[in-house]
Amino acid sequence: MPKRIIIHWSAGAYNPNSVDFQHYHIMITGDGLTIEGKFPISANEVCKEDSKGNALYAAHTGGGNTGSIGLAYCAMAGYKNPQNVGAYPIKPAQLEAGFFKVAQLCKQYNIPITKETVLTHYEFGKTHPKTSSKGKIDITYLPSYPTVPAAEVGDFIRSKVAWYLKNKVS
Ligand SMILES: [Zn+2]
Repeated sequence: MPKRIIIHWSAGAYNPNSVDFQHYHIMITGDGLTIEGKFPISANEVCKEDSKGNALYAAHTGGGNTGSIGLAYCAMAGYKNPQNVGAYPIKPAQLEAGFFKVAQLCKQYNIPITKETVLTHYEFGKTHPKTSSKGKIDITYLPSYPTVPAAEVGDFIRSKVAWYLKNKVS
């Protein structure tokens, strides 16, 4: 069973590309649709590689793939900073669709909503500075909630997911 959910942005456009399919279990498109990646969530239970070293799991979080569901918002290509967000900022309805999906996954897999179990890639990198996740910026900015500071985006997401779990997921 997966033990945590790590939330990303793809740094791409509003639909997944072939690389995204390899690296995430679940993708939220610009239209708020949920798309499944190539590898099932169960493939990350024990992360294996083939004889050529190709991952047979969704490699979404360096140093943290085992037991982790990887969910990505398809968005944020060209993002530089809050004043220069590029042509694909996460859309309001897209963002909410992702919160709802995370809440569903929490329910389905009995994952509690804590900093260790529902977190952003950015947060994982902060707490695991010896991994390749160090310095990742997804997710440090929410275009539809621009006043939430980078350091609080994870807490904000968890509060939203908790609301969806309580009110929308049965
Ligand atoms: Zn990421």
